[in-house]
Amino acid sequence: NLDFHPTGRHFLQIPGPSPVPDRILRAMSLPTIDHRGPEFGALGRELLGKVGKIFKTDKPVIIYPASGTGAWEAALANTLSPGEQVLMFETGHFASLWHRLALRLGLEPEFLGLPGAEGWRHGVQADMIEARLKQDTEQRIKAVCVVHNETSTGVTSDIAAVRRAIDAAGHPALLLVDTISGLASADYRHDEWGVDVTISGSQKGLMLPPGISFNAISDKALAASRESRLPKSFWAWDEILEANQGGYWPYTPNTNLLYGLNEAIDMLLDEGMDNVLARHQRWAAGVRAAVNAWGLEIQCQDPEVYSPVLTGVVMPEGVDADAVRKLIYERFDLSLGTGLGKAKGRMFRIGHLGDCNDLTLMATLAGCEMGLKLSGVSLAGSGVEAAMAYFSENPAPHVARP
Ligand code: PLP
Repeated sequence: NLDFHPTGRHFLQIPGPSPVPDRILRAMSLPTIDHRGPEFGALGRELLGKVGKIFKTDKPVIIYPASGTGAWEAALANTLSPGEQVLMFETGHFASLWHRLALRLGLEPEFLGLPGAEGWRHGVQADMIEARLKQDTEQRIKAVCVVHNETSTGVTSDIAAVRRAIDAAGHPALLLVDTISGLASADYRHDEWGVDVTISGSQKGLMLPPGISFNAISDKALAASRESRLPKSFWAWDEILEANQGGYWPYTPNTNLLYGLNEAIDMLLDEGMDNVLARHQRWAAGVRAAVNAWGLEIQCQDPEVYSPVLTGVVMPEGVDADAVRKLIYERFDLSLGTGLGKAKGRMFRIGHLGDCNDLTLMATLAGCEMGLKLSGVSLAGSGVEAAMAYFSENPAPHVARP
């Protein structure tokens, strides 16, 4: 019952879908138009002309009316053939789901990772990828697949290091990167990092509702798609690229979400991608100040790769993180991310992306602190006070006021 709370708005502080700014909601409320008509073609051409700026690429970006999982499948189906080997790295739940998807498509994925629970607390280990590729003297591995921002743990891996590892091994494998939750919140550079397929989605840093996803592709990926033999039709790049020439799609695209995407891109580019990144890093630092003051552990154990998008908060032994989340939801109308897969019940996740500001994050942290105390978790100190100190001592360089 969404009317349960008589006043105020719900706090959606999960790491995607993120809260959608009013400006984007308004843009999406325009009438749906003929997707084969001239107005649509103009919109499509404008969008396709500028979407690459968010991925930092001059190459084509395919837009699908699908969730991120579809774009995962598209990246594999367009570049690979049945039975081919791919090297994937276990950083958490989403890397595991992508691995399962590769298996189901009939590929032979190898899942590299740190031993035990360690893998879910660190980023991709580029040296392990380099060592494995060096062993592959017959070059049977056709693609390296990594998750940039692992949403289940709050770890943002160093993709440039993965590129260097592939180059250092002198290996021709494609580099496929999932930045479904990293794009437009964490630093991301498709061309500069030599990524062959970048996979992303609408419902995280782009501040849109779920429902569109992306494949940004390199020349090498495009060439691979001409040889690839995995079955595909809806996902096939060739027909989409052809229709995109005129600003159209081969099927009915997600018109109103595309209005929203157009607005989101303008908002992000007006702010400047460097400012967008700095804004998320500052929010993340404020949230981590709170978690540290509580005396609780952050799931990511390597400060070099703390996520600017979300923070995973580990519960003390014997505390069920989902019970804490449930209490916070019921008492304070605040949604926090659940622990996923191996982390179920052990942690909750605080999203700091989308339509947020210092004060909405302060409210979120207040909700967490009240809920933790009500759940009987003993805290070392006040996270709210620590975050207030952080945000007041580190003013935002600018406050965007569109
Ligand atoms: N990869 C990552 C890193 C994600 O965070 C998600 C969703 O949260 C997915 C893949 C799957 O995307 P979707 O749920 O949109 O299909």
